[in-house]
Amino acid sequence: KNRNPGETEFHQAVWEVIETLTPVLEKCPYYAKQKIIERICEPERQIIFRVPWQDDDGEVHINRGFRVGFNSALGPYKGGLRFHPSVLLGTIKFLAFEQTFKNALTGLPIGSGKGGSDFDPKGKSDNEIMRFCQSFMTELYRHIGEMTDVPAGDIGVGAREIGFLFGQYKRITNCYESGVLTGKSPSWGGALVRKEATGYGLVYFAEEMLKARNESLKGKVCVVSGSGNVAIYAIEKLQQLGAKVVACSDSGGVIYDERGIDLETVKEIKEVQRDRIKAYVAQHGEADYRDKGNIWDIPCDLAFPCATQNELDEKAAQTLVENGCLAVAEGANMPCTPEAVDCFMENNVAYGPGKAANAGGVATSALEMQQNASRDSWTFEHTEKRLRQIMANIHRDCYDTAREFDLDGNYVAGANIASFRRVADAMLAFGVI
Ligand code: NDP
Repeated sequence: KNRNPGETEFHQAVWEVIETLTPVLEKCPYYAKQKIIERICEPERQIIFRVPWQDDDGEVHINRGFRVGFNSALGPYKGGLRFHPSVLLGTIKFLAFEQTFKNALTGLPIGSGKGGSDFDPKGKSDNEIMRFCQSFMTELYRHIGEMTDVPAGDIGVGAREIGFLFGQYKRITNCYESGVLTGKSPSWGGALVRKEATGYGLVYFAEEMLKARNESLKGKVCVVSGSGNVAIYAIEKLQQLGAKVVACSDSGGVIYDERGIDLETVKEIKEVQRDRIKAYVAQHGEADYRDKGNIWDIPCDLAFPCATQNELDEKAAQTLVENGCLAVAEGANMPCTPEAVDCFMENNVAYGPGKAANAGGVATSALEMQQNASRDSWTFEHTEKRLRQIMANIHRDCYDTAREFDLDGNYVAGANIASFRRVADAMLAFGVI
């Protein structure tokens, strides 16, 4: 904490991993002797830069840009960019640290990174977004590359922003290096299924968790927080697999539609109009809008936090338990507080941590890199099949690793230990670096 003052989310993420590694450090003291914990917690590099841009009225604004390359033991730095006013260096470091373990779990050759800015895209025109992205890339371009660091989207960064960023990269470098960014539109180098991948993968992971308890998704009542990229495609896959989603949200409030959320309306509001979720009730008068409401008060069998970090606290976890919730799978990064996680574990609620459950997005980004490198493009069906297999493999790795250490059903320990070993072994192979 003295070394990284004020970075509370980073401290939280590190602590959550370290406290589960004792069994593997006891079993293999060589890791501690080689100071792998100290090494794995220190980012390889951190870049902070000024991002000046002009709004439509000609006024000048200054934002701060970040890119953290956390660990490149398994491949080039890989992780998204987040544009949100809450972004601080500690936010990016926590996300990049989590990414180290998540990316290792995919079994694909990708290291970890994360970046972003405290820029707020809400209410900005397309031209303002474009000018901001161009200014951001004017510094970022010199730090990235398909063999070095491959950014993608995250909160506030979707296909539109990736397009503006790539356009500027291409212009500055005189190079159509499509593998330098992922999350591109499929019309110019993006992979089919990337948009859907995090949400779909999350549901595949939850399906495996339920299978391990002789349960299934069919007929289950679900609550999904958020209404962004991850939430929308989690809802889509849940509905396809026979579950009923009754609620979603945004930072303004919660929609509760007892008959089941109409996803086409949500997509129209969020992906086309870029409006607030409140607009849902204009088309579905029977639905209930709860201004600043707490989505976890709504009774459900399965809960999918898909908005942001620390959105589900101990009180919310207790409410979910009292309402008979069977499983919680994290679409967002670190959405449950440590106290909430303890509450799920103590009450035998199956709990899938984000670094395992939401790894489908980055896994499909790695598949996008494969397609770009081979100048190929795969069908939707082929890519989705690979995604489903990757999620089943991640589940199996977490499940079996937890078993190996007599921690049956503990996906947190399983995910942390399985991924730690993969990264640590590669780092040891490279010597003291
Ligand atoms: P989007 O920007 O598409 O959507 C984010 C959603 O969460 C919006 O509905 C937003 O509401 C809500 N939200 C954001 N911040 C807050 C907040 N402070 N309080 C309440 N609601 C909030 O982002 P994504 O769907 O891409 O990302 C969601 C989460 O999933 C993040 O934790 C991200 O790191 C994680 N993730 C994303 C991946 C991806 O492929 N996109 C991959 C793996 C993880 P509003 O519009 O009102 O702000």
